[in-house]
Amino acid sequence: MAEERQGTAEEAAPGGEGESPHADPERRAPDPARVWEALVATARRTVTDGLVVGTSGNVSARVGDLVLVTPTGVPYDRLTPDDITGVDLTGRQVLGTLVPTSELPLHLAVYRTTGARAVVHTHAVHATAVSTLVPELPAVHYMAGALGGTVRVAAYATYGTEELAENMLRALAGRSGCLLRNHGTVTYGDTLDQAYDRTAQLEWMCRLWLTASSVPGLTPSLLTEAQLAEAGARLKGYGQRR
Ligand code: 13P
Ligand code: ZN
Repeated sequence: MAEERQGTAEEAAPGGEGESPHADPERRAPDPARVWEALVATARRTVTDGLVVGTSGNVSARVGDLVLVTPTGVPYDRLTPDDITGVDLTGRQVLGTLVPTSELPLHLAVYRTTGARAVVHTHAVHATAVSTLVPELPAVHYMAGALGGTVRVAAYATYGTEELAENMLRALAGRSGCLLRNHGTVTYGDTLDQAYDRTAQLEWMCRLWLTASSVPGLTPSLLTEAQLAEAGARLKGYGQRR
């Protein structure tokens, strides 16, 4: 998995280094302003990396009982520290004046049902293409293990609805990412960087499957759930030990 970091994101994001039990007590409760900075950097990255166009997609991060979210319909390069937007777990706005993302039900559903500290939603093109073709992404690569196993496609519902949030939760069971049919991707993680990286890996796997499955006369080999689980367990120890 990519180990790219977002400046202060890793430290600022809840569940990141800043919450180490050995850390200075002041660092245990992340400062919402720093998390907002990391959240905006992540949202901008979804555009610069080509995972969304314009103001599509949205990003959120949880700080205690506060959920910071991108505002609806505002280009990410225009967001400043003063635009910080936050809601409580019921969706009541507690920070800022900009209207929160239309996908608030989807983000809050993830925080209410999982230990997620960050959620990323995109309209990544290969992932969205796959969402129109199959009920789950065929297991063409072991990186699906990093998302908990074969990635499912949630049933279609209109964007921004509770129905879409419910459909997403069903597809997310036991997974940290899913596709939304005829719409896009949702991933979550312990940090903004982890949630973002899972989206990037999911988009990459969708591109891989589309590429492999488009060779005339040949069919890609697939991995079993057991093989994905084994890779997933091994990936927990992937990277540099600290
Ligand atoms: P927002 O601009 O309201 O976040 O909506 C974008 C989107 O992707 C809706 O599904
Ligand atoms: Zn969307």
